[in-house]
Amino acid sequence: MCLCCHKDETLVHLFFDCTVAKCVWGCIAYTLGTDFVPQSLWQYFVWVRRFLPGLKTIFVEGLGAVCWAIWKTRNAVCFKKKV
Ligand SMILES: [Zn+2]
Repeated sequence: MCLCCHKDETLVHLFFDCTVAKCVWGCIAYTLGTDFVPQSLWQYFVWVRRFLPGLKTIFVEGLGAVCWAIWKTRNAVCFKKKV
């Protein structure tokens, strides 16, 4: 169960559908000048191609960095009881 919103903690939920993930993606979208936020891995690749054309090298690294930050935050909430 997700520690933030008490829904089933699937990979899609944790990295895209959770309120925490939506906030992170929303901040990134804001910096790119859009309010469209990816809600799945597939949408991420469509999204990044649309808003960062020509930057193919950061597609995977950017996804990894965002997911890593969300994962570290999730673990801090889970194991260090951070709010
Ligand atoms: Zn959640």
